[in-house]
Amino acid sequence: MTPHADAAGALVLFSGGQDSTVCLAWALERYGRVETVGFDYGQRHAVELEARKAVRARIAREFPAWAARLGPDHMLDLKGFGAVAESALTAERAIEMTERGLPSTFVPGRNLVFLVYAAALADRRGLAALVGGMCETDFSGYPDCRRDTLNAMEQALNLGMEQDFRVETPLMRLTKSQTWALAKGLGGEALVDIVLADTHTCYLGERGDIHPWGHGCGTCPACELRARGWDAWTAEGRPELAP
Ligand code: ZN
Repeated sequence: MTPHADAAGALVLFSGGQDSTVCLAWALERYGRVETVGFDYGQRHAVELEARKAVRARIAREFPAWAARLGPDHMLDLKGFGAVAESALTAERAIEMTERGLPSTFVPGRNLVFLVYAAALADRRGLAALVGGMCETDFSGYPDCRRDTLNAMEQALNLGMEQDFRVETPLMRLTKSQTWALAKGLGGEALVDIVLADTHTCYLGERGDIHPWGHGCGTCPACELRARGWDAWTAEGRPELAP
């Protein structure tokens, strides 16, 4: 546990998935006050929203020092955006590659919209850092997850809100194997177990049986990515990555 956590607070964009759970632990290690925000944009499955509650509760129970820093959770209704940006995640459409070279799970501008809402909330809550699990090494190459995009967004938010927010992306350069290693570096096997058992990543919203890498259908792109990362991390001997 960092002895002198940053007194300024952080707002974590928290979906209840593997990446945002590791980001939440990263923020709790670093900041004295941490709140979470989730977005309901009409996802096909509510299982991810349930995972958020389970992960927060277990972190609070098993990490008392972090529990003292963990503030309220906020859920924002973005169904209007979901209706505009309809894609495979929010409508009954197959998960496939589109002619633009992006998976049909891409929701145009999703992270940009999330950050506008998160920044407005952070302004009201007096929080200085916006923490998200965006990652450039992600196979899908979503353009709104690139650091260049987020640098531009950070500048736009600060200019437009007369603020000094930092958009922090601790997973930006990590592989999926390194994300498991970071979980272990932050919270040991206890945190790895929370990520394994309680987070939700599957695009199809399947909980189902538990695989070595966690719950999910096992065949959608998100499950495949998660399973490959787990296999690589296991093959490397489950190393630890310091935050
Ligand atoms: Zn799946």
